[in-house]
This record gives sequence, C-alpha cells and structure tokens, in this order.
Amino acid sequence: MTVRTRADLAQLPGYVPGRTIPGAIKLASNEVSAGPLPSVVAAIATAATNVNRYPDSAATDLVSRLAAKLGVEPAQLAVGCGSVTLCQQLVQATCGEADEVLFPWRSFEAYPLIVQVVGAGQVRVPLTESHALDLDAMAAAITPATRLVFVCTPNNPTGTALRREEIERFIDAVPEHVLVVLDEAYREFVDDPEVPDGVEVAKAQWAKGRDNVAVLRTFSKAYGLAGLRVGYCVAPDAVAEVLRKVYVPFSVNAVAQAAAIASLEAEDELMARCAEIVAERARVRGELLAAGYEIPETQGNFVWLPLGERTAEFNEHCLSHKVVVRAFVGDGARVTIGEPAENDAFLAAARSFQH
Ligand SMILES: *Cc1c(COP(=O)(O)O)cnc(C)c1O
Repeated sequence: MTVRTRADLAQLPGYVPGRTIPGAIKLASNEVSAGPLPSVVAAIATAATNVNRYPDSAATDLVSRLAAKLGVEPAQLAVGCGSVTLCQQLVQATCGEADEVLFPWRSFEAYPLIVQVVGAGQVRVPLTESHALDLDAMAAAITPATRLVFVCTPNNPTGTALRREEIERFIDAVPEHVLVVLDEAYREFVDDPEVPDGVEVAKAQWAKGRDNVAVLRTFSKAYGLAGLRVGYCVAPDAVAEVLRKVYVPFSVNAVAQAAAIASLEAEDELMARCAEIVAERARVRGELLAAGYEIPETQGNFVWLPLGERTAEFNEHCLSHKVVVRAFVGDGARVTIGEPAENDAFLAAARSFQH
C-alpha cells in the first residue's frame, strides 16, 4: 500500500536551481558575486544570539522601514520568505481550482511550478520576436477565469523591461477584478529612465481607484541576501491582507529580518555596488555584440543569449571553461553579470565558441 499523494504532482518537474560546481565561476543564479557588507554580517551575528526566540511574525520593524522608504502604509506591505514564496501566496490568495494565472513565457521558472502546486490553471503567453513581454497578446489572453497576471519586468531571463506607457495601457485593458503583479526582482539594476518604478505606477493606479496592481521586490538580488530569503509585496490593503493570511507563520526568520534592515541602512553602499554591475553589464553586452551574438537590451544583472538549438552546446563549452551559466535547453542561456574578472572568463569562453 502506497501513500496516496496528489496524482497531478507526478508529472510536475522540480525547480532546477543554478548549478554550483566547486572551482568554477557561478554566473547561473543572478546572485551578486560580492559577499555581504561587514555591517550586514555584524547584524546577522547579533541576531544569531537570539535564535532561541521565534521571529516577529509580522516583521514589524522591517515593514515599517520599507513603508517609509516606499511611501506606502505598513498595511500595504506583506513580507515573504523570498519573493518566490510571495508569488505562491499571491496565487493561493487569488485562485481556486477553476481559476487561471496568466504569465509571459519564457519568464521566471517558478511561475508554472507554483501555479500547478497551488492547483490553479495556467496560460502562458509567448514573448515577442525581440524577447520582450507581449502585453497586447497578454491582454487578449485574459478570460473570465483569469484571476492573476504576472508581469515580470525586467524579465527573467531575457532582461527586457517595459516602458511606462506600455504598462499603463496594459493595466487599462485588464478587468479591475484581475490582479496585475509587477515582478520587479531586478528593479535596482534598471538604468533606463523610460522604465518606471513599479511602486510609483501602482500608487498612481490606486489613486485612480484601481486596486488591482501590486509589486514584488526582493532582497535576494541587488541587496545580496539570496541565502537568507526575504522579499516583499507592495499591494492595495485588501490584497496585502490576504497575503498575510496565507503566510506560513514565522517563515521570514529573525536573522533574515535583521539582515534586511541592516541592508536598508547600508542602501547607498549596496546601490553603488549595483551601479558597478550595471556598468559591467554594458561592457559585457557590448563585447558579446562585437563578437557577433544577438543580445537583447537588458535591464537586469544578466544577459540573455538566444542560442536556440545551440544552447546545450554553448552550456557545455562554458562549463569546459569553468564558467557555469544558466541554460534553458532549446531556447537560450542566461548569464549573470559578476565581478570584472568573472565576466572576462565568461567573455573568453563566449568568444571561443563557434556560433
Ligand atoms: C529571483 C527572482 C525572484 C525571487 O527571488 P527570491 O529569492 O525568492 O526573493 C522572483 N522573481 C523573479 C523574476 C526572479 O528572478
């Protein structure tokens, strides 16, 4: 007799994280290569002395600092164990079995998995030829069953970002009972002034009485805390409230809360680090273009190489050069911008690939 588990999970592939290979350069997970700042390590060490106590489940201090920074009410925030968990909470909070989540594809790997785990339906809308979100097609794909739309900007893995008018036109086209979630995991790497701050977009919509726009952010990427798992959602009160209801109690741990607060206090230093990554991004993309690669314009801390059928071969070639990239076989490779020397190692590998 075997335990009865959900039959629909049998076909579900597991989430595939970027590989870590000892001795190799890891450019596979969009992490920041530099380690945590000394001030953040100190906050982590202090918090470690108190881990016999449960964390503040409401993350009160972190939430109030985020509210002040973003110009929203604490009631308009929900924290999560990484923004990937908030993606799951958003689906749980909006969808039952008969409901659907719409998202672009290719986009963040976790969307299809989460939607299936929660047990909702999913609709994937292909990207445009230029690897960008096809918002017109997404608007057209909304059905009476749609409850939630993920809009990943900059898009992981292609790097393309949406402009203000495009986003606003899209929101106007979405029925008001459908939640639009701007997933801005890479917001801090945006340097194109035409790409709006999603929180400002959301606040402007709320002011117009449109309470169906929310924004996801994370401490994993620009703030360098991927290992500690903290993200947050800026949302209209009613949405933030249901997100808190589906929150697994205590899942944002005390060390993570302390590290996130210390990172907000060291924001200038961390943003200066992001600016260096953005400069490296321009250099890496420029050199890849010069070497004859097609590379979409990118606003994330990564570049996308749409290599199609040659992706697996490119991946092996990079591995033989001790550089780990993220290959989506048959589609393309995503390569994180690391430290200059790491990027040089990747560029050397890319130049020696017969593409
Ligand atoms: C990395 C990423 C996240 C999630 O990051 P967490 O580590 O779970 O906070 C969410 N969305 C996108 C698009 C990402 O690339």
